[in-house]
Amino acid sequence: MMIRHANVNTVHDLVAQLPQPRVLVPTMGALHEGHLALLRRARKLAGNQGSVVVSIFVNPIQFDRAADLLAYPRTLERDLELCEAAGVDFAFLPEKEDFYRADHSVLVTENSLSQRLCGATRPGHFDGVLTVVLKLFALLQPKIAVFGEKDYQQLALVRRMVRDLNLPVTVESLPTVRARDGLALSSRNARLSEADRSDAVRLHAALQTAKNFMLQGEKNVAEIVEKTRNLLLKNAPANFTIDYLDLLDSENLQPIENVEKPAVLAMACYYGEVRLIDNVVLRPSPFK
Ligand code: AMP
Repeated sequence: MMIRHANVNTVHDLVAQLPQPRVLVPTMGALHEGHLALLRRARKLAGNQGSVVVSIFVNPIQFDRAADLLAYPRTLERDLELCEAAGVDFAFLPEKEDFYRADHSVLVTENSLSQRLCGATRPGHFDGVLTVVLKLFALLQPKIAVFGEKDYQQLALVRRMVRDLNLPVTVESLPTVRARDGLALSSRNARLSEADRSDAVRLHAALQTAKNFMLQGEKNVAEIVEKTRNLLLKNAPANFTIDYLDLLDSENLQPIENVEKPAVLAMACYYGEVRLIDNVVLRPSPFK
């Protein structure tokens, strides 16, 4: 039987009774196949002896726009059924008033990997993400935590926080789970109109074309980015805008001129108010 628990003050003692390895999957709910893949991996990592913990919490301090927070899809009862079916042992469902004291004043800030991509266009976003992840680690004390590669920069930042703060957690990651047509699954996809959802196949297609372009020998970052931008904007609907499109060193997320070692091509775009992200890692052949 899956335990549902909301109280931040009592969760520590309760969770201590769950056997290790305790494997945590942090989410904001509105679960889809991408989340379920993380839960399945968590179940495998925990094995028969260990336990799987999921957190479902729409973290207010990582939203830079109030309207986005308000519109974020919430499907709690269905999420809990999916968690139970996926073999989750413990679902942590804190209330925001309980999770953040009215006068809370400590945030985790990272000063390097967070400077570009989402960090540049969503001020404060990653302070919010790292703070919630650190609090979840402190409250739930997992041995392992599982994250998706769809949120590439987030994953890099969590790994950096674990390294720099010596947190006793192993971070595991999973490749992006996609719809049949290639669109990265996201809770926000539910907010797309039918027309925008069909159009959104272009996002992954453009990134794949850029990857092929690189594999065929193009190394110049400006060229690859320009080509991808043109593909994204070609015949795009009027409500489509690119928030950012950048090709960076995949390790340190710093700018590069040429793709000589693994690099990440990452983008965020808007269909109206709905913001989507995606990325692809470009790995040049060492023999070329
Ligand atoms: P979220 O609920 O959007 O905060 O996501 C919770 C976790 O699920 C994060 O580690 C995400 O990277 C991961 N995730 C979200 N979408 C996908 C996807 N399509 N494939 C794999 N992981 C995902």
